[in-house]
Amino acid sequence: MRDFALEIEQRKRDGLYRSRRLVSGPQKPELVADGVELLSFCNNDYLGLANHPGNIATLRDALAETGLGGAASHLVCGHHDAHHQLEQRLAAFTRRSSALFFSTGYMANMGVISALAGRGDTIFSDRLNHASIIDGCILSRARVRRYGHGDVAALERMLAETSGHKLVVTDGVFSMDGDIAPLKELARVCKAHDALLVVDDAHGLGVLGPQGRGSVLEAGLSEDEVPVLIGTLGKAVGTSGAFVAGPEVLMDYLVQKARTYIYTTAMPPAVALASCASIDLIEQDNARRAHLQALIARFRSGAQQLGYQLMPSHTPIQPIMVGDNHAALALSRALEEQGILVTAIRPPTVPEGEARLRVTLSAAHSEEQLDRLLQALAQCRSLLPEQTAQEPVAV
Ligand SMILES: *Cc1c(COP(=O)(O)O)cnc(C)c1O
Repeated sequence: MRDFALEIEQRKRDGLYRSRRLVSGPQKPELVADGVELLSFCNNDYLGLANHPGNIATLRDALAETGLGGAASHLVCGHHDAHHQLEQRLAAFTRRSSALFFSTGYMANMGVISALAGRGDTIFSDRLNHASIIDGCILSRARVRRYGHGDVAALERMLAETSGHKLVVTDGVFSMDGDIAPLKELARVCKAHDALLVVDDAHGLGVLGPQGRGSVLEAGLSEDEVPVLIGTLGKAVGTSGAFVAGPEVLMDYLVQKARTYIYTTAMPPAVALASCASIDLIEQDNARRAHLQALIARFRSGAQQLGYQLMPSHTPIQPIMVGDNHAALALSRALEEQGILVTAIRPPTVPEGEARLRVTLSAAHSEEQLDRLLQALAQCRSLLPEQTAQEPVAV
């Protein structure tokens, strides 16, 4: 039998061992983790809506109306009026004809990719795409060709030499780097080479674009240009669940073929109603996004002055590059000693030798809290070797 304990020991030696913290109370900047209150800079609640009193009240009322459990899959008898309302709301919000509600973004990617490509087809996937996209590609049994991160010229060459059904898939905002895919260019080459473009906007939705409509709308791309748009509700929307949006015929096709849609219990309908309320807030409240942008600018200038190496990101994902796994863990621990929580991200979540601290900012943070992070980073600066204090990366 395989020696599992030995493998775990090896992971510990490589600085790759992962463990969980026990959180109590709600997700907010002042997070109680393992019984200690820390100032957290690592959740994806970019607009601070995960603990919004109005949305909580909506959920409570919705529970009284719809009950708790989803009780069945959508195709049996679980497709509730609340889910339908959310789908319509999401389609309108993303300026698409229709939308389909999934239980998580992970399941949406697995289901959508494996339904839209299969044996004999080719999927082209950005090298830094999210794990759920990678797994969806594997599940599809299609041929998978990875292209260099954001390298549209390389993609175009690959597309030109490939025949048959082609699908191109990319994160809108890259989850561990915070940069945005060259969406307009991707749409152009997909059109030119008759490839279906799938964009997973998990981190752009709510944050980027007019009224938070996401990276695809920020790039001004229509449903014709980006026919398959995927989003999660677990990040800026602050609830749970996910969706795909696009032409009705595609949604109909997914209802027939997406196994992660078909063979799973529908989300509690009340959560769908709370998500509708949250999307209303996202659409109306530009102040949250403005505050978030101010925090991002303040963080970047502060961290760069300290000599930390950042990435070319203007999104709330602001990784501090470290490189070595142990060094990333040491920096994370040193920050924790000063009351700040930023998790170290290591392979295989990021490429070998690119361990980092993934700082995420939220509209729920105050400027004063951000300054506490910068002060703590100033204290810890000596932990990293000089070579990481390179030229600040311009956005
Ligand atoms: C988080 C994430 C997902 C998964 O979404 P969940 O709803 O959390 O399962 C999918 N794609 C990307 C790019 C992500 O960052």
